[in-house]
Amino acid sequence: MKSIIAANWKMNMTLPEIEEYFNEMKLYENRIDFSKKEVLIAHPSLYLLHIKSLLNSFKSKIKIGLQNCHFENNGAFTGEISPLMAQDTGADFIIAGHSERRHIFKESNELINKKVIACTEKNILTILCIGEKLEQRETNLTFEIIENQLSEGLEGVNKFENLLIAYEPVWAIGTGRTATPEQISEVHAWLRKFLEKNIANNIPLLYGGSVKPDNIKRIMSIENVDGVLVGGASLNAGKFIKIINFE
Ligand code: PEP
Repeated sequence: MKSIIAANWKMNMTLPEIEEYFNEMKLYENRIDFSKKEVLIAHPSLYLLHIKSLLNSFKSKIKIGLQNCHFENNGAFTGEISPLMAQDTGADFIIAGHSERRHIFKESNELINKKVIACTEKNILTILCIGEKLEQRETNLTFEIIENQLSEGLEGVNKFENLLIAYEPVWAIGTGRTATPEQISEVHAWLRKFLEKNIANNIPLLYGGSVKPDNIKRIMSIENVDGVLVGGASLNAGKFIKIINFE
């Protein structure tokens, strides 16, 4: 399986910054071994068609996607973007249930589940994010929380070939505090076992939380880590290329 290196730009980047970013990526494109790496970028949705046109000059396929979407295809949902629109404009993937959506925008497992079903059924690659808060880890609730996020988030999902899971401990996102290799290893081993017993085999497992050029190699060497989801460090093309080229 290729190593999956996914970027989450969050609500960052302007048009000139995006052009500069892809100009820099293009310069180093030949140094990326795309036979071993799957590169994904979740950008603000408004820029999708422009980014697609910038990527036309690339020889290799970089997947682009949205950080969120609604579950309905159309309707009176002011401000929302639908899976149909994502598909129509050529989005390769979406992120569902990112911790900022869960905690700032109060998205529930039930709502996230509808998004996962809508997108996977449309054959849009879907990254379901799960992870515990610090106080939950400190009170030994980590596995209860992620089991609940998985069970409720994946209820009624059938097309597991379109699904990836990202374990992102909330306390490690944007804090500079990466989970230790032991913590990542323990959760990913648990996830693999839980998914294989209850859901499906071979669902790729990503880790996210303060991934940087100087810790990527260590993280990717952990068993059951198939890739990473990178926030802050993916905003700098140079750093993101270093992360992609971790080996
Ligand atoms: C994220 O936003 O999914 C993330 C992991 O952010 P950061 O890499 O900045 O911790």
